[in-house]
Amino acid sequence: MAQIILYDTTLRDGTQREDISLSCDDKLNLTRRLDQFGIHYIEAGWPGSNPKDAEFFCKAGELELKHARITAFGSTRHKNGRCQDDRNLQALIQAGTPTVTLVGKSWDFHVEKVLDATLKENLAMIQDSVDYMKNQGREVMFDAEHFFDGYRANPEYALKTLQAAAAGGADFLILCETNGGALPWEVEAVVQAVRSEVTERLGIHVHNDSGCAVANSLAAVRAGCIQVQGTINGYGERVGNADLTSIVPDLQLKMGHQVVSTEQLASLTALSRYVAEVANLAPDNHKPFVGQSAFSHKGGIHVAAVLKAVDSYQHIDPALVGNEMRAVVSELSGRGNLVYQARAHGLEASREDTQRVLHQIKELEHEGFSFEAAVASVDLMLYRVHKDYRPPFKLIDFMVVTEQRQGRGLLAEATVKVRIKDEVKLMAAEGNGPVNALALALRKALVDDYPELANLRLADYKVRILNSEKGTAATTRVLIDFHDGTRNWTTVGASPNIIDASWRALSDSMEYAILAAAGVFDRVSPHSATVESSAVR
Ligand SMILES: [Zn+2]
Repeated sequence: MAQIILYDTTLRDGTQREDISLSCDDKLNLTRRLDQFGIHYIEAGWPGSNPKDAEFFCKAGELELKHARITAFGSTRHKNGRCQDDRNLQALIQAGTPTVTLVGKSWDFHVEKVLDATLKENLAMIQDSVDYMKNQGREVMFDAEHFFDGYRANPEYALKTLQAAAAGGADFLILCETNGGALPWEVEAVVQAVRSEVTERLGIHVHNDSGCAVANSLAAVRAGCIQVQGTINGYGERVGNADLTSIVPDLQLKMGHQVVSTEQLASLTALSRYVAEVANLAPDNHKPFVGQSAFSHKGGIHVAAVLKAVDSYQHIDPALVGNEMRAVVSELSGRGNLVYQARAHGLEASREDTQRVLHQIKELEHEGFSFEAAVASVDLMLYRVHKDYRPPFKLIDFMVVTEQRQGRGLLAEATVKVRIKDEVKLMAAEGNGPVNALALALRKALVDDYPELANLRLADYKVRILNSEKGTAATTRVLIDFHDGTRNWTTVGASPNIIDASWRALSDSMEYAILAAAGVFDRVSPHSATVESSAVR
């Protein structure tokens, strides 16, 4: 099967998404990461459109890329003008990239109504611009904007625009599904028709407005496109672009194309989460291949089956894309979910142990706890069930005061009394709120005996009000995420009192940190060494 060329436009089309804004440094970091992953072309921006992109191209020359070529994006020359006077084309040349991508119109309606040019002049604009860039020593991608709508309206003219780019010497002709409304069989038929008319190498660029961007990209490859354009996580204008985090594994694992190396493919999940982090967007847990839930099993029957035969409820081995299998523990679980988690986290648990923990989980979920995300709380329960379990500390009592005094603003102060071995410690701390003060006081009380707590950072604190029809008497569920630089973990607490709910989650979190540092939860794969043990939970 043919090598498929990947063209990433996260830095250009991806940033057209409403809530994404990347700094120049963000873009430089993403470029390095995309290069490591094995992307062949990285479209970095439109140098003629804004100073931030121009700054990127200035600095991009210092990037030592192993694999990727950076491309600058811009449109064909203005109507009735000359390339050498065209500001856009000159900015593209100044960007200094080995490759440029020129976008031109291929839909007669757009040429006449939006561009206000004659059909003939548009063909000249395309050919002149490509020819000019080739003479400047650039590799040229020609993006035929609205190609599929254009082909539907006037196939003869749409093809002429491609032929004009080919006559100018374009290296690739990219068929763009700009409005994103096409369906896979239409895309496949149009690509086939183009394939029989032009000999140049073809690429595909689609948007996801019909929810078919991945399917349309795969259909285009089946019909003869050898370059696929898209973005990481499908970020892009409106509902987004074709998502490379699905396209790459589909091409490589299902269609048998060579796209990236096996090791690079195994870094796909990490890449997806890295890009989400830089874009400052929460990762989508339910994303195919790379989402945290992509290989999670919650139904007891599923987990029991997966424990017997790992492939019984999953379409690929998650390790191939750097993801991992998970058993979600909840009141719907069977014992198998707990057995799976205990084994995965290196905990010994007998049949009676898991039976007891499952019973506890069902009771607590009835009270308002939810353990699906609070994996650390379940680990603790599995550990505490042992006869010889000794808690690293015991709470004697705590007190929290919140005051609003004129001229001094809001102040929270907490006092915590704990027993560590035979010693009783009393500590107080101030915080910006009661839970913060409580966390700081507890850590202060414990840190002399457990110095590993010094690196602890609160990553997230989520509060959810259950049975809200009871108003302020409702049950509050609190989820707390901590990290210590190497691990992240989540614990849960629930109570009619938000401080009590937070306290339960907090004290579990500290205990988890102490036990984890002692190596209690060192993870061993339940099946084989192929499940990555270091992956983010
Ligand atoms: Zn686009």
